[in-house]
Amino acid sequence: MRRTTLEKSQPLRPLVIGSPNERECRSMCPITFRTTCSRKCVGWVTMSGIEKALAGDPFSIDLTQCLLAAQAVESFTPGDAENPWASAPSDSQLVFKLFFVAICHQINWDFLQRRMYEFFFAKDFGKMIERAREASAKSVEEMLEGYHRPERIRSSERAKYLRTTAGAISEYLFDNPKSLVASKTVFGEGGLLELIRKIPAYGEDPLGKKANAFAQELAREGIVKFADSDRIPPAIDYHLIRLYLRTGRVVANDKSIFRVLSTGSTHRMRLVNLLRQAVSEALSQTAAYARMPPHVLNYLEWQIGRNRCEHEFMNCDGPWPAELFDGSIIAMGAHCPLRDSCTAYHTPEWKQMLEPALKKAFY
Ligand code: SF4
Repeated sequence: MRRTTLEKSQPLRPLVIGSPNERECRSMCPITFRTTCSRKCVGWVTMSGIEKALAGDPFSIDLTQCLLAAQAVESFTPGDAENPWASAPSDSQLVFKLFFVAICHQINWDFLQRRMYEFFFAKDFGKMIERAREASAKSVEEMLEGYHRPERIRSSERAKYLRTTAGAISEYLFDNPKSLVASKTVFGEGGLLELIRKIPAYGEDPLGKKANAFAQELAREGIVKFADSDRIPPAIDYHLIRLYLRTGRVVANDKSIFRVLSTGSTHRMRLVNLLRQAVSEALSQTAAYARMPPHVLNYLEWQIGRNRCEHEFMNCDGPWPAELFDGSIIAMGAHCPLRDSCTAYHTPEWKQMLEPALKKAFY
C-alpha cells in the first residue's frame, strides 16, 4: 500500500478491518506498533492532531512541580472525623460506607452522605442491606429530593447500583460484609481490593476509583485499621484531575491535547484513562515527597479541588468557604495552600484547564 506525497505530509493512521497480517502491518504502520493488532489494514486515513498525540504518550509528570506542591502541603495533619454514625457498630459503619461509595459518582459528596444517613442508615446493618435490595428510582428520588442539579440524581442508575451491591453481599460475601476486611489488609490475597472487585459498582473501573475511595474512607474514619493503609492507592476523580492539570504537575505533551483540555469537552476514553493514570502517579509522587500516605494527600487535595479550584471559579486568595467544617483543612492557611507554586495562578492560559467531560459512574 503506497502513500501519496499529500498523504506523506499528513499525520496518518491505518484504517483497519478483518484479520491480521502482522508482519506487513509492522513494516507499514505509521504509528508505533504498541500492541498486537488484531485487524488488517485496508488503507490510510488522516489522523487528527489529537489522535496522533494519543498514539504516543500524551502526558508527562513534572517532578519539580510535584516537589514544590509537596513542600506546600507537608505540614498537613488530618483531624479526627466527627460523624453522627461514628458511635454505631463498626460493621454498620462499614456497610453504610459500602453503599454510599457505590453511588457517590457525579454528585456532591457531603449532600449524598448526609441524605443517606437520614434516609438509609440503620444501626442494624441487615436493615441497610434490605433497604438497598428494595431500592427503586422512586426511593432514590425521594432521598435526593432538592439537589441543586436534578439531572445528576440519575435515580434509576443509583437504585440499580444499590440493588446490585446488596445482591453481591449475598452472593459473594454470604451476607457477611465484614469478610471484606477480615484480613485487615488492602492488598494481597484476600485483601479488600481483591474482594471488592466482585461488586459491580466497584469492579467496573480499570483504575478502581470507588474501591480506593472506600478503602480510604474506612482508614480515614478509623472504621478499619489496615496493616497496609499507607499504601492505599489514590482515588482519582474529576476534582483531582482539574487540580493536577492547573498546578502543572500533569502536563499535556501536545498542543492539541492542551487545547481540548481547555474546553473540557473531550471524552475519548483513551485520553481519560491516560490522564487519570498520570494524575494517580503524580499524586503518589507528591505524597512521597511530602512523606505522607497517598490517601492523606488525596483527601487534602480533593478538598482543595472541590472547595477552591472549581470548574468555573478559582478561589486562590480568599478564605475557605464557610460551610467547610474540617478544621484540619482550614488550618492549612487563609489562601490556597498550592498557590505559590501553582502554574495556573501565575499563567492565565493555564486557568482554562478543565477535566474531560465524561458521564461514567466511576468518574
Ligand atoms: S492557586 Fe488557584 S488555580 Fe491554583 S490550585 Fe489553588 S485555587 Fe486552583
